[in-house]
Amino acid sequence: MKRCSSAAFLCLLLVTTSALPAAQALDPAAYRLVDLTHPFNDRTIYWPTSPSTFKLQRLAYGDTSGGFFFAANSFCAPEHGGTHLDAPIHFAQGGRTSDAIPLGQLVAPAVVIDVSKQAAADPDYRLTRDDVIGFERRHGRIKPGAIVLLRTGWSRFWPDRKMYLGDDTPGDASKLRFPSYGADAAKLLVEDRKVGMLGVDTASIDYGRSDDFIVHRIATAQNVGGLENLANLEELPAVGATVIALPMKIEGGSGGPVRAIALVPKRR
Ligand SMILES: [Zn+2]
Repeated sequence: MKRCSSAAFLCLLLVTTSALPAAQALDPAAYRLVDLTHPFNDRTIYWPTSPSTFKLQRLAYGDTSGGFFFAANSFCAPEHGGTHLDAPIHFAQGGRTSDAIPLGQLVAPAVVIDVSKQAAADPDYRLTRDDVIGFERRHGRIKPGAIVLLRTGWSRFWPDRKMYLGDDTPGDASKLRFPSYGADAAKLLVEDRKVGMLGVDTASIDYGRSDDFIVHRIATAQNVGGLENLANLEELPAVGATVIALPMKIEGGSGGPVRAIALVPKRR
């Protein structure tokens, strides 16, 4: 009896598994890979009040007594600068730290909202609720968990601090001018559409003139993170790309450098 039922179970298992579609390996050749990351170097842009910037120190470079070549560096940098992640704890007490963000929030389908024309005419431009609704009319409703990428065109100014931030007075963040998200658009995206991440090709998910960082507060209150100082957004379609934005896994971190890339399906 026992033997009979285990045979039946095996048979059922075979039927069930053969009915499932075969798992497919990800084929990188089917995608155009786009690097969304600025290089880290001595020109990397940090917030004007940042006490330090990216520093690379050579520890070794050259032939060794063992007869082989050896190179190694140490680096030091604030978490927030260059292409980087804002973890929810950056503006929300009790929010997730860099290491605690679920991987599914860092690897997700992307939508790219293009406001580069509006921003070219107005450096204080903020994404509006109507911009989001208009985008959805053309491309469909933005899905929960999406990584939203706001394209302002500002990455073309990188690494010119004065052009990119709107002001390059050391230690003073009160005169910055660059575009980003507006509060109502952020509320719609975060609270209603329930996106996973807000990204932008400027220095902040709040526009340069902000002094209350309301978009950061709206996003991080829902454990939504930020991706700032992104590059090459003009190479992405409005919908269809998948973004992989993995930060350095700093335990307890409030953010950190990110190597962000996008997978754009090749047309067949
Ligand atoms: Zn940041």
